Amino acid sequence: MKPIGIYLHVPFCESRCPYCDFFTKRPAEGEPERYADTVKTELEAYRGKHIRADSVYFGGGTPSVLPGDLFTELLDTVRDCFTVTDDAEVTVECNPSSDLERFLPAAAETGVNRVSLGMQSAVDAERRKLGRLADRKRVEEALSIARDNGIDNLTLDVMLGVPGQTLKSLDETLAFVVDSGVPHVSAYMLKLEEGTVFHRRAASLDLPDEDAVRDLYLRTVEALEAAGLRQYEISNFARPGFESRHNLKYWHCEEYLGFGPSAHSFFRGERFYRKPDWDAFVSGEPVVPDGPGGGFEERLMLALRLTEGYRGEIPERLREKASSPMLRPFVEIGDDFLRLTREGFLVSNTVIAELL
Ligand code: SF4
Repeated sequence: MKPIGIYLHVPFCESRCPYCDFFTKRPAEGEPERYADTVKTELEAYRGKHIRADSVYFGGGTPSVLPGDLFTELLDTVRDCFTVTDDAEVTVECNPSSDLERFLPAAAETGVNRVSLGMQSAVDAERRKLGRLADRKRVEEALSIARDNGIDNLTLDVMLGVPGQTLKSLDETLAFVVDSGVPHVSAYMLKLEEGTVFHRRAASLDLPDEDAVRDLYLRTVEALEAAGLRQYEISNFARPGFESRHNLKYWHCEEYLGFGPSAHSFFRGERFYRKPDWDAFVSGEPVVPDGPGGGFEERLMLALRLTEGYRGEIPERLREKASSPMLRPFVEIGDDFLRLTREGFLVSNTVIAELL
């Protein structure tokens, strides 16, 4: 059995960003402790099953708002209940505005070896529009704190299509990213998710139009690749050897178990998830089955997010569709591979829907 990935969703944030629809809340008195106890109970269900894991990922929400001792307890419990390999990738998402002087030494001490920093933009005016509390200087400090604690495997999140963003302001962000020397970058396009403040106020946001977002994306790919950060997925770039082992499991359709409210799992051929609901979580409601996973269409859909694409036998009907005049600019097909072109990445959802 291949080692699996383990994901822990930490649902706490200092404040809600106006574009975010993740399951998060402000931690009330006693809730971080309640969270840790409940997740530990979820983890205990796997004790003694000798399941190996080679990646552990703390996402959120904002894991860096957890007190250091609770974080340590959680990672220790993961290690007690699973066989975590010696070379495991252990990632924690951090918000630069958290008290990282307190959090990161404890995280590094307990075995975290990769930090994902939610920067979004190096331009303070853009960060403010996104509701992010830290300024550029604080992002620089956050990188230094991680490095001072021996964590060099760092990744920065960049957002494209931010209100008011231009190619010039994006260049400032990309220059910051490249100068920072981080070996990994995620660059996501802003989506207006229903129920968010941005969705309600879309008309007044000064959002770049579709063509402008396309240009922002292509400029990002070009600049990061020129700096040696190779694109390996629609939104992800890395120096060789620094690709996210954890996220590659999702795209390779490999197994992972998720813990905490709203966490999803794919394990032993089945998909299931935990409700995005605090009360359901703390009352120990069981996971919600989400049907079998890992079928051909699903594997294809996930693999097409990667620059290497899908490798394996390509059914004739798919070959025909991929070669149609409509899809030809967006798809490359060989004897045993199918992948999207850079233009195809820009309209990946539509292309994949057409293919399937
Ligand atoms: S910090 Fe991240 S998870 Fe929390 S509200 Fe902002 S975008 Fe959402």
